[in-house]
Amino acid sequence: MLKKSIILFENNGYDLSGIKENINLQCRGIRKDWDGYHQQIHDNNFDLNEENNYRYYPNRNIHKIVISSKINNSFRATEVLIHELCHAVQDELHGYDCRPHGKEFKAIAFSVGLDVNYGRYTPALPALEAQIENWNREAGTYPHPVSMPKKMKILEAIGSFVLDLAFILYLIFMVGSVLIIINNVYEYFLG
Ligand SMILES: [Zn+2]
Repeated sequence: MLKKSIILFENNGYDLSGIKENINLQCRGIRKDWDGYHQQIHDNNFDLNEENNYRYYPNRNIHKIVISSKINNSFRATEVLIHELCHAVQDELHGYDCRPHGKEFKAIAFSVGLDVNYGRYTPALPALEAQIENWNREAGTYPHPVSMPKKMKILEAIGSFVLDLAFILYLIFMVGSVLIIINNVYEYFLG
């Protein structure tokens, strides 16, 4: 959807060459009354380059786009993605000085096919609506399966190992106690 949305902007005359490599798209829980947000972050980043080697990017400008995980339909999620991309384009073209949903934002949003008459809620106009529905048919079900981050997997493995170890130690202790008791009983009657 991100790729298709970027092409949508490019087809409408926006040059996203400076943005598209630096988009960090996430789907997670955010403020209840938000569908998503866009934020520019400056960070030191390591990333894979085209030759699959890690490269260091000092102070890279990242457009972080978050879509609320409470959105469970692909159509709405794509509308939100396009809305947030409008913020990214607005930042690139006009800087930080203009209002978040002001006239600059509205011009961009309208030209890619969003309805800008409802404030910060920007539903797709019919033409874009049809286009998104086509994309969805190609992309399949939403939400797409999310893989667990590597860090979590490692933590999970360590956690279950510690629990197993504790259980084994407990078993050894119990068996030891039982053996001592049997030994004592044995000695009492036979000793
Ligand atoms: Zn917005």
